[in-house]
Amino acid sequence: MHDEVSGLMKKESIEFKAEVNELLSLVIHSLYTNKEIFLRELISNASDAIDKLKYESLTDKALTEEGTEFRIKLAVDAKAGTLAISDNGIGMSREDVVRELGTIAHSGTREFLAALVKGEAAGHPELIGQFGVGFYSAFMVADRVAVVSKMAGSDEAVRWESSAGGSFTVEEAEREGHGTDVVLFLKQEEKDHLSQWRLKEIVTKYSDFIEHAVVMDVEREVEDKDDPSKKTTVTEEETLNSRKAIWLKRPAEVTDEEYKKFYSHVSHDFMPPAETTHFKAEGTSEFTALVFIPERAPVNILYKDFKPGPMLYVRRVQIMQNCEDLVPPYLRFVKGVVDSSDLPLNVSREMLQNNPSVEVIRKNITKKVLDALKRMKDNRTEQYENFHGQLGRVLKEGIHYDFARKEEIASLALMEATSTEPGKFTDLDAYLERMKPGQEEIYYITSTSRTEADASPYLESFRAKGYEVLIMLDEVDDIIMSSLGEFKGKKVRSATKGDISLDGEEKDKKAEELGGLMGFIKEELKGKVKDVRPSGRLTDSPCCLVAQEGGLDHNLEAMMRAMGQEMPPQERILEVNPTHPLVQAMDARHKAGGAEDELREYVSLLYGQARLLMGDRPEDPAAFAKSLNKLMVKDAEK
Ligand code: ADP
Repeated sequence: MHDEVSGLMKKESIEFKAEVNELLSLVIHSLYTNKEIFLRELISNASDAIDKLKYESLTDKALTEEGTEFRIKLAVDAKAGTLAISDNGIGMSREDVVRELGTIAHSGTREFLAALVKGEAAGHPELIGQFGVGFYSAFMVADRVAVVSKMAGSDEAVRWESSAGGSFTVEEAEREGHGTDVVLFLKQEEKDHLSQWRLKEIVTKYSDFIEHAVVMDVEREVEDKDDPSKKTTVTEEETLNSRKAIWLKRPAEVTDEEYKKFYSHVSHDFMPPAETTHFKAEGTSEFTALVFIPERAPVNILYKDFKPGPMLYVRRVQIMQNCEDLVPPYLRFVKGVVDSSDLPLNVSREMLQNNPSVEVIRKNITKKVLDALKRMKDNRTEQYENFHGQLGRVLKEGIHYDFARKEEIASLALMEATSTEPGKFTDLDAYLERMKPGQEEIYYITSTSRTEADASPYLESFRAKGYEVLIMLDEVDDIIMSSLGEFKGKKVRSATKGDISLDGEEKDKKAEELGGLMGFIKEELKGKVKDVRPSGRLTDSPCCLVAQEGGLDHNLEAMMRAMGQEMPPQERILEVNPTHPLVQAMDARHKAGGAEDELREYVSLLYGQARLLMGDRPEDPAAFAKSLNKLMVKDAEK
């Protein structure tokens, strides 16, 4: 009685956070395939809890008893219809349990829901682990889940229980020693998860590489020594996983199948990796790395919760689940494991950041991964195109951020060009080989679509000259090509920026003749454009707006605005095609004198269409339409 009112012992019912509720409802009602992955998630949580405790005990020896054997135990109670997954890891306090299992929604919750709705994760519940909400997968097979936990260093245990349905309960409990039991009350139709055989199968399939033993009491029939016809059943504890640290084996000793399994273990990806790189470094820094390049982007790579980097081990002890210092940000899709012999066991995140050993590891991995990508690009075009379609954007960031390797990374970039069919790719090296005699620079245009690029007036004179222009369709491409600056000694230039004159002389002559008109247009557009000049890039269109050399590309400007960046308006230059009949006619009017109002209207129309061609609206769309209509009426009445 006393206990009931003390508050400590009281059973409390707490509501799930709304998003968690939503997630649970989806898990229960919509995820039908691959339900067996619940076991991987729970074993993985148990293993993390052991890693955490081992790590903490390095500095606080009192947390564990000397000689503790860390393990994860599966226990079946066929009568009760329960399966329990128990660990002797770090455990959780009452606050931890309440917080972690239902009252806060990890940002992964929303993201997983979004991925399910968008279809990215549809049919693949196994992705749940990528989002950091793996615990809830228990509800795919259980209609009730109980968690009993005791935190290392504490004497109080807690029991959490829920049948989903909006809330969970917490109360004080008893537990011997630190760690956590997750008890699943299996749904009627999931009772096959009580079979030893089935559990063994799932553990070998998904959790074979877990470093800690996953054990289970297994019944075996043994023959009586004296009378072989008599059999008795004995129960023995069996370790179900091989616990092989395959990264420490020599590559020749590891099978493809083992690599694949290990990859799916570390990445939660259901496809095999595109490339596997396994190597041991000796010398100034001693470490082993086994890293994988995925073929598809991890679904959560763009979310803020994404944890980049391979696992970090120091002499077989796991230090970190994801160590982002081991790879440069532009290779953040690389998964795997690094086992270092140089780092101290109690290395902290802060220490890793400027650690020379880590730097050596990062350099080595970067080189190996870029080599592997080059191999893939040279030998397996289709697969590389898939990879590039998914992760090329991320990889290209390296051109901007990794000065020493920018040309190497640029060589890996695929892009379309005026010479390729839509949807087909070329690259910078192939472009160089096709350059026309006399062409000194590499040209590119950024665009939101191939169709728009093909129709772009900015490319007219390039086409007339037979010069190829690279067509870049990622928003970030302009920054990236500007950062590249040069490739194998050739300058890289945007077709929409600066003064490009491909065949100077004839145009120059005509341009001189336009002097008066130019002055008139300049005066008219004062404050709207930085300058007006005769164009060397147009052949068929009368005019276009260009950025100054080194200025911001229009697509990029639009993207940055869309992202809420404050940007001063970019000053552009209006280029006028001196050979165009309209410009010539305007020039004739101007020379004849008078008709200023009409000319003024023409200039405004010219400027409006130049904005349209760049992808903007005319400054005053209504006035633009009115002027245009006026001219059309005039023409129709002729
Ligand atoms: P994740 O493990 O990716 O963070 P989960 O939904 O699987 O996401 O688990 C949520 C949290 O619950 C974990 O981060 C951890 O703090 C806690 N937790 C789950 N299982 C255990 C366990 N066996 N021992 C200790 N803590 C656990």
